[in-house]
Amino acid sequence: MRRLRARVDLPAGLGTEMVWIPAGAPAELDLRLESVIEGVLVSGTVNAPLQGECARCLEPLSDTAAVELRELFYYADRATDVGDDEDARVLVDDHADIEPVVRDALVLTLPLSPLCRPDCAGLCVDCGARLDEVGDHTHERADPRWAALSTLVDEEPSGRDPAGRGRGQFPGSDV
Ligand SMILES: [Zn+2]
Ligand SMILES: [Zn+2]
Repeated sequence: MRRLRARVDLPAGLGTEMVWIPAGAPAELDLRLESVIEGVLVSGTVNAPLQGECARCLEPLSDTAAVELRELFYYADRATDVGDDEDARVLVDDHADIEPVVRDALVLTLPLSPLCRPDCAGLCVDCGARLDEVGDHTHERADPRWAALSTLVDEEPSGRDPAGRGRGQFPGSDV
């Protein structure tokens, strides 16, 4: 068994709009290479820095992606064993091309909704302030649905007996 510890530069553009690996950021590999009958088994961990945007409050965030890796590289003369498996990796000149494996593993591990912290409160729907900074708060402005309703009430001809209003005349205002 061989131990492989290395820092490798990752290609630019890995990630999504929400979370990505910064261009030129190195990944730390800590891998074991084991000779098996079919080829070489590569396993271990990969760590890489992440940058992104919190899905709730849109603040920039940085994190570390940590991935467990386990991949069998087949000897070229064993490659026929894998048949139609297009994902099967094959040693080329006894060389395992680890980069695509690392890349795929990292991309698969990226969070779909990265958060600046697990319980980020997000943004105020009214003013857009970050609730983690300004705290929970309310705005005087009335809910627009109720505002529309009060306009209806105001436009009601004066002098009419309120008791004569039938239920359901004001949708949602049955009180
Ligand atoms: Zn956040
Ligand atoms: Zn607000």
